[in-house]
Formats: sequence, structure tokens, C-alpha cells
Amino acid sequence: MADVPAECNIKVLCRFRPLNQSEIIRGDLFLPKFQGDDTVIFGGKSFVFDRVFPTNTTQEQVYNSCAKQIVKDVLCGYNGTIFAYGQTASGKTHTMEGKLHDTQQMGIIPRIAEDIFNHIFSMDENLEFHIKVSYFEIYMDKIRDLLDVTKTNLSVHEDKNKVPFVKGCTERFVSSPDEVMDVIDEGKSNRHVAVTNMNEHSSRSHSIFLINIKQEHVETEQKLSGKLYLVDLAGSEKVSKTGAAGAVLDEAKNINKSLSALGNVISALAEGTKSHVPYRDSKMTRILQDSLGGNCRTTMFICCSPSSYNDTETKSTLMFGQRAK
Ligand code: ADP
Ligand code: MG
Repeated sequence: MADVPAECNIKVLCRFRPLNQSEIIRGDLFLPKFQGDDTVIFGGKSFVFDRVFPTNTTQEQVYNSCAKQIVKDVLCGYNGTIFAYGQTASGKTHTMEGKLHDTQQMGIIPRIAEDIFNHIFSMDENLEFHIKVSYFEIYMDKIRDLLDVTKTNLSVHEDKNKVPFVKGCTERFVSSPDEVMDVIDEGKSNRHVAVTNMNEHSSRSHSIFLINIKQEHVETEQKLSGKLYLVDLAGSEKVSKTGAAGAVLDEAKNINKSLSALGNVISALAEGTKSHVPYRDSKMTRILQDSLGGNCRTTMFICCSPSSYNDTETKSTLMFGQRAK
């Protein structure tokens, strides 16, 4: 195994979506002021990230400036994770998935799928690739397989090398970008069938797409493997304590717990606190344990609304992102 670098490679990127039609009609103000390519001024405070993407940034620009390199690294045997964090309707799914079959508007996941196969076709012919994908969600701390609706409560195990994995989760071998897209479409339609209100549901569950790449040299039999987790997190908005009760309040508490567990892990890694990184505090951080920190490539998208209406949530989203720096 290669040496673990002293500092973990965590990048935090901030993306603001444009004002939408109803916000414009309501007369909401556009709050962020962008400075250079790494700073946004919001509510009188300046927030610096690895990159800040203003509202007119295209899907292609976002991809090229971050995910492209991660694909290369995963093909060299590194693990990685890309997250999207933010309140509901801040642009998480737009960033991670976008419009799946639209070459301009497609997001990171379909672009990664294309890029992986482009790389492979241009690599050494003596390398044999096995690529498999899984797609699942975590809702109320339960793991549900999006490729097999009968699996609604999977558990996290460790293999003999202490590598965590979701036991029994469907794995699909894929051999082209189209096959990856088919798997995503299938997972999404299963998700739609399983729940009554898809928008509400997707804002309360974390969806995780895993790409696993194994390669073997046919002559030397040398093996290399890397995996990439692509995570569209549950909405980070606070539910008002007075308004919510029962199931809604339980959901909110649960989301809050899992997002703060993630925040704690990321900030421990960013500080270089090697002694205790609290991976075990949530299912998600347990699953991601060998793809966060250490030798891994970790990128967090902080997705923000520009509207004065979302002022408070945007501030708290920016603060969350800042903790990782
Ligand atoms: P989330 O997944 O965070 O709940 P979405 O990604 O679904 O939010 O975005 C909410 C709406 O805003 C969608 O209609 C989406 O197409 C639009 N949107 C989000 N980000 C952008 C952007 N950067 N440019 C244009 N439209 C966007
Ligand atoms: Mg979404």
C-alpha cells in the first residue's frame, strides 16, 4: 500500500444556483457577491473555498474543474467520494445528476460514466477492466437497495481487510456509459414506485451511487482497484421545532444527526486529527470510511440558494462548508 499522506485531500466547492422564476416574481433579492474564483461574500461575511461557482457556471465547467481529476485518480487505484450538501432545492441533484440524457445539462455522474470508458478505451490493451455499480439510499438510518426493492434494510459489514461494505447490496457489471445510465434510470424509477411523494422523499434520504473499478494486467496479473462514492445528501434545512411533530420530527432529527456525523468526520479529517475520526457515528460515515480521508479524494459541493428568502439556511450551509477547511 502507498503511504498515507499526512493531510487528507479534501476539497470544498461552493455552487450557487440562479434565482428561480417564483423567487423573481416574489421580488427576492440576489444576495451573494462573488470575488475571484474562490470567494463569496454573503451576509457581510466572506467565505473562501477551493472554488466558488457563480450561478452562470455550466455543468461542463463544474465537471472539468473537479470531478475529471478524480476519475483519473480512481483509475490509478485511489478511492474517492463526491458529496452534494445543501438545503432542498439548492441544486444538489442538478449538480450530481442533472438531466441524465441531455449532453449539456447532464451532471457529474453521467459525465463520470462517459469519462471512465473514454479513459479505458485509450489505455493499455493488456489491462482488463471490471466495473460494477450499486445504487442505494439511506432513509431513517435504513439502507434500501434501489436496484432491488425487496432489500429494504441492508446492513454494513467489514470484509477480512476491514473494508466496509453494504452486505447483500445489488452489484451490476457495466461495460458502457449507456449501461450506467440504464442502472441510474432503473434505480430512480424504483425510488419513485416505493414512495408517494418523490420530492419530499428525496429531500429526506441520502442517495448513494457507487462505482467500483477493478483492473488486472493480463500478462503480469497485477491488480488495481478503486472506488468512487457519489452522494446526493438529504436536505440540510432545519425543521422548525414548533411546526413539526411525530414522523416529520423524527425524520428531521435523523437527518440532522447523520449530517452532523458527516460534518464531524470531515472536519476531523481536515484538521488532521488522526487519533479519532468518528466514522462509527452513522451508517453513512461507516460505509464511506475507506473512501474518505487518508489516501482518498474527497470533494464536497456546498449547494446554495442566492435568494434573500433562504438567507438563514444559506448562511448555515456556508458555515458547514467552512468547517471542512
Ligand atoms: P436539490 O436536489 O438540492 O433539492 P435540485 O437540484 O433539484 O435541488 O434543484 C432545484 C431546481 O433548481 C431544479 O429545477 C433544478 O433544475 C434547478 N437548478 C438547480 N441548480 C441549478 C443551476 N446551477 N442552474 C440552473 N438551474 C438549477
Ligand atoms: Mg435533490
